Amino acid sequence: MPELTEQGILESSPRMDMDTRFNFRCDPGMPCFNCCCHDVSILLSPYDVLSLKRGLHMHSSEFLEKYTLTLRSRDKHVPVVLLRMEEPSQKCPFVTESGCSVYRHRPWACRMYPLGMAEPKGPNAAANRFYFLVEEKLCQGHGAGREHSVREWIESQQLEAFDQMQAPFLELMSHPGWDGPEPLSQQQLDMYFMSLYDLDRFRRFVMDTRFLDLFEVDETRIEAIATDDEDLLELAIDWLTFSLFHEKRMKLKKSAASSERMAEASR
Ligand code: SF4
Ligand code: SF4
Repeated sequence: MPELTEQGILESSPRMDMDTRFNFRCDPGMPCFNCCCHDVSILLSPYDVLSLKRGLHMHSSEFLEKYTLTLRSRDKHVPVVLLRMEEPSQKCPFVTESGCSVYRHRPWACRMYPLGMAEPKGPNAAANRFYFLVEEKLCQGHGAGREHSVREWIESQQLEAFDQMQAPFLELMSHPGWDGPEPLSQQQLDMYFMSLYDLDRFRRFVMDTRFLDLFEVDETRIEAIATDDEDLLELAIDWLTFSLFHEKRMKLKKSAASSERMAEASR
């Protein structure tokens, strides 16, 4: 069984494409039912957080506080959000005797299992994406039950919406600006966390500060972000790509641009 490390997966995992077939069974009749929802590291993407906090009818700040753990990546100190297991049982806060209590809103990683997805680093990473089987010893579903293709699995777990919403975030994460000479400041990293994960707070930042006086955002988009979390997340990614890496994904209003030029000239 290949090691479940980045290197192990890239070097030794048998690569699967959309048509590769595998057998897998998972249902309440399995002797290992719910075992996989204990002591597990589940990374949450911004869309996972959006989906869970909406499903639980919670404010994003409250959700993050109650159910997550934020670590920092070793190299760039970028915030990384994980689902927090309960203490001392180490069980997922959402697992119940009858299964996952947030099934309709469960994270990408829970939907994908027993599949993993990897993209070798370098140009055309997305085009070189492949899938692989995550074979946990405790899981007795491997090789049992009916046959699925990777494509059928992805469809049955309704992963298309997740993949569509996650694509701009993955693009932001692989932006060459992360490798620039200057690391991002603490203030920029805090802004990154708030905009992507604490969406309800980001909405207040957009609506209640001078944000809309400074940037050109059309009326239809303003109406959408007032209530729609997906639209708000798209704006967050445009804003971060602009503010962290100076890409023209947002446009300053003329009045704001000229005061910025004046400020620059007086420096
Ligand atoms: S979110 Fe649901 S499926 Fe995922 S670990 Fe928790 S209980 Fe299990
Ligand atoms: S351990 Fe495997 S078969 Fe058992 S409940 Fe979890 S995913 Fe299903």
